[in-house]
Amino acid sequence: MAAPDLMERIVNLCKRRGLIFPSSEIYGGFRSTWDYGPIGVLLKRNVKDQWWRSMVQLRSDVVGLDAAILMAPRVWEASGHLETFTDPLVDCRACKLRFRADDLAPSGACPNCGARGTLTDARPFHLMFKTFVGPVEDEASVAYLRPETAQGIFVNYLNVQTTMRRRPPFGIAQIGKSFRNEITPGNFVFRTREFEQMEMEYFVPPEEAGRWFEYWVQERFRWYRDLGIPEDLLRVRSHEPDELSHYSAATADVEFAYPWGWGELEGIANRTDFDLRRHAEYSGQDLSYYDQEHDRRYVPYVIEPAAGADRATLAFLLAAYREEEAPTADGRTEKRTVLRLDARLAPIKVAVLPLSRNERLVPVADELAATLRPHFMIDTDSAGSIGRRYRRQDEIGTPLCVTVDFETLDDKAVTVRDRDTMAQQRVPVAELVEHLRGRLGG
Ligand code: ATP
Repeated sequence: MAAPDLMERIVNLCKRRGLIFPSSEIYGGFRSTWDYGPIGVLLKRNVKDQWWRSMVQLRSDVVGLDAAILMAPRVWEASGHLETFTDPLVDCRACKLRFRADDLAPSGACPNCGARGTLTDARPFHLMFKTFVGPVEDEASVAYLRPETAQGIFVNYLNVQTTMRRRPPFGIAQIGKSFRNEITPGNFVFRTREFEQMEMEYFVPPEEAGRWFEYWVQERFRWYRDLGIPEDLLRVRSHEPDELSHYSAATADVEFAYPWGWGELEGIANRTDFDLRRHAEYSGQDLSYYDQEHDRRYVPYVIEPAAGADRATLAFLLAAYREEEAPTADGRTEKRTVLRLDARLAPIKVAVLPLSRNERLVPVADELAATLRPHFMIDTDSAGSIGRRYRRQDEIGTPLCVTVDFETLDDKAVTVRDRDTMAQQRVPVAELVEHLRGRLGG
């Protein structure tokens, strides 16, 4: 499918099926901000849960954290963000629009109006959102919305290390909102000013940093692949030395083939001991680690896999989207749209559908749905033809549909329909939970 078409179809599907809505839509929307609807919030939550499961639950060496978005302004002095967290901004004198200098074509023409020679020189534009804390709006009450979750981890390094009795190598993982006043947000939820990050800071002895960097690049690539993104839509790109952030000794991005080209999903950086050293210097606290075994003291190096929950959600949606010809009950074929999401990510795991709105079927389906709800995320739907209801579930990626028909009333069995193969199987209600669990895995 042509790239712009695919993007448009995804945006439409997200709107139509309750995944993602334009924010403040009844007021005409608000500057590239988006709201996750009832289906989208489940999808994004599953993405975050899978990240947490692989980064925290399944590991003995990583613990979690949930730090505040507002932090002492000194944090941003120490981290270097106040000084250097800028993008190069260029104005067009003709159309008055603003652009990121690194987004411009080599021709030097304005990307909006096409005029030549109208762009100003680039100047640094600060990306942190500034606000005031408390009732007085003066310099002393300035605070910033965090532009990354990482600093909440660094300032809690000592708390976590001592209370959890950890020694390097160990990691601290966190999921939460970050804010950047991006000059040019766009491409749906790929680049927004408010977004969610999934970051983990992995503290290691300095001489082990190179090895752990390679390890985390491989691990993180594997995570996307194991959750269903085909390998040909993924690649690892190492940063050139002139691309590296102020704190980084090495960075590699896991990139996804978005419809408009390769784009970053996640960055893995060797942040060295930059952050802990700076926070030690600015706070006056000793953040070094005493390695008893080797009788030495060092400031740990940090390997950081930093992912975006919104970009990952979009990538999973794009990779799962299919339009297919499907046979109908009366022997014709019709187009169906299906999200072939990994069952672990699917917003709804099982849809319970009475064959029709018949008054004998609906209560049985309702009762069945109630018994399944404690086990799985369930949807029910009785409106319209069964074929259309299957299509609707296909469109949101529901792996299994359970249909209650007239035979159910006699044989106490239901039909289980598979999203991908559309194959149907008769299963006794008494065995249904086990059957569904087996099919959904995870
Ligand atoms: P980019 O180069 O695309 O601006 P970045 O290199 O500045 O991204 P990082 O600082 O490495 O991004 O942030 C880690 C992750 O957070 C990114 O890989 C991305 O998934 C996510 N992220 C960063 N900025 C945004 C944004 N404006 N909107 C959505 N997600 C974002």
